[in-house]
Amino acid sequence: MPGHARTPPSAGGRRDCGVRCPTPDAFDPGVQCPTSASLNPDVQCLAPAPLDPGARCPTSAHLDHGVHRPFSAPLNPGAHRRSPAHLDHGAHRPFSAPLDPGARRPTQAHLNPSAHRPSSAPLGRAAILGPMTTVDHLRQVRLGNLRTVLLALVDRPGSRADLAARTGLTKATLSNLAEPLLANGILVEDAATLAGMGRPSKPLRFHPDGPVAVGAEINVSHLAVESLGLDGETIHRRLVPTDIRTSSPNKILDQIADLIREITTQRPMLGVGLAVPGVVQDGVLVRAPNLPKLVGVPLAENLSKRLNLDVELENEANLAALAHLWPRHLAGEDFVHVSADVGIGAGVVLNGEVYRGTGGFAGELGHVVIERNGVPCTCGSRGCVERYAGLDVILKEAGRRRLDSLAKALEKGDPKAVDAVEAAGAALGVGLATLMNLFDVPTVVLGGSYAVLHAHLKAAVQSEMDIRVLAGERRLVASPLGEFAVVRGAAGLITRRAVLQPERLFA
Ligand SMILES: [Zn+2]
Repeated sequence: MPGHARTPPSAGGRRDCGVRCPTPDAFDPGVQCPTSASLNPDVQCLAPAPLDPGARCPTSAHLDHGVHRPFSAPLNPGAHRRSPAHLDHGAHRPFSAPLDPGARRPTQAHLNPSAHRPSSAPLGRAAILGPMTTVDHLRQVRLGNLRTVLLALVDRPGSRADLAARTGLTKATLSNLAEPLLANGILVEDAATLAGMGRPSKPLRFHPDGPVAVGAEINVSHLAVESLGLDGETIHRRLVPTDIRTSSPNKILDQIADLIREITTQRPMLGVGLAVPGVVQDGVLVRAPNLPKLVGVPLAENLSKRLNLDVELENEANLAALAHLWPRHLAGEDFVHVSADVGIGAGVVLNGEVYRGTGGFAGELGHVVIERNGVPCTCGSRGCVERYAGLDVILKEAGRRRLDSLAKALEKGDPKAVDAVEAAGAALGVGLATLMNLFDVPTVVLGGSYAVLHAHLKAAVQSEMDIRVLAGERRLVASPLGEFAVVRGAAGLITRRAVLQPERLFA
C-alpha cells in the first residue's frame, strides 16, 4: 500500500493514518473516516503515488468538492453521455491530463494543510459554488464508504463482519451502506451460513441479475462484444471475424449495435465501452492509419443513439492494458501490454493507472524507430517497429495469410515461419527495450496475436531486452485473456467507473 503509514487503531475503533481527517469529531461518530479505509491491507489503496503523511490522502475524494481522484477517472474525458447529469466536473480527467487550477493533485502545493481548506482554493469549484455544507460533506463521506465496500466486494463476497474487517468500517456503517445496495438489486444477501462458533453470517455479493456493462471492439479484422458484471464475471461474449476496411462507418456501427443487442439481457445496463484501433482524444478518434474513414466520425454518439445507452470511446491498446488491471490485477501495477494486428498497440500502466499522455498518444510503440533509415512507415517516418514486427509483416514474411495458419506452421517447425517470428521478436525486443528504459516497468505482457505466438516469439524478445534494458532482467509473460482482452477492458472501463463513482449506480 503505497504512501500510507499504518498505525494501530485509535480509541473508538478509528485509525489514525496521520492524514488530515476529513470527518471531524463533531460529526456523527458512526461515520467512519474513509481515509482510514486505505490503511486496511485488504483494501486496494487508491493512492497512486507515495504521499507525505502530512498530505491529504487522495482517497478522500469527498473533500474535493466533486473533483474525483485520478484513480476513478475514466480513460477518456470526452465520452458521449445521454444525460447532462453525467457531465459533471473534472471527474473524467485522466491522471496524466493537465488539471485545472482548482483541481487537486498530490503536489507540494497541497502539502500545506491550509491548502485543503475550500476557502483557500481561489479558483476551485468551492470558489464558484461556495463552501461545502455539512450535508454535502456527509454525502461525500458516504459515497467514499460505498466505494470502499464495493471495491472489497469486487475482490470477493463477504459477510458484513468480514467486510467490516476488510474495510475498517464499523458493522453498523456496513449495514447502513448495504441497505440501498440490496434494495436496488445491486447486491444480494445469500442464505445464512454457520461458520465457527459465532452467529450465522449472510454473505453479501453482487446480484446475479444486477447491472452489467458491455464492451465492444471495432477492429480491422473483427468485431467483438462482451458483457461483464460488476463482480468481473463475463456473461456473454462473441467475436466475428470480418474485414471492415471497405465498410462504411454506418454499416460498422449497425453491425456492432446488432451484436450488442444479441448479448443484451433484461439486466440493467451501465453503458458501453467502445474500443477502436487509433488515437482517441476527447471522445473522438483522431488518428487511425488502418481505418481512416472512421477518423472524426462521432462514433460514440452515433452508437449511443442506436442503443439508447451511454457510450464511451477509447483506444484498444489502453483498454487491453486495463483488462489486466481491472477487476483483477493480472500483471501487477506497473507493466506494458503490447499486442499486434496490422499495427502494434501498447498500453503503459504506471502505478495502477493506464498512462495516456497529454493527448492520448502515449504507448505508440509501433512507431518507435529502431532503424533510422529503415523501411518507410504509414506514419511518415522510417524504420518504425511495426514495419518489422507488425502482424501483417510477420504473415508476409512467413508466407501465410492468417494467424491460425501461421500458428500451425510454427507447431510443425516450418523454418520460414520460425524465422519470420524470430525476426519480428528481435525487432519488438529492441523497441520494448527503449520503452522500458524510459518507464522502468518490470513486466511486459504479450497480448493478442503476440500471445498466440508467445512460445516462438519470447526468446528473441527476451534476448534483445536482456542486452538493452539498463535495469536488467525484466519479466515477459503471455496474456491470459486471449483475443477478448480488448472487449473485456472496454466493459471494465464502465464497471470500474461505476464502482469508483457509486453515485452512478443510483442514477
Ligand atoms: Zn511509424
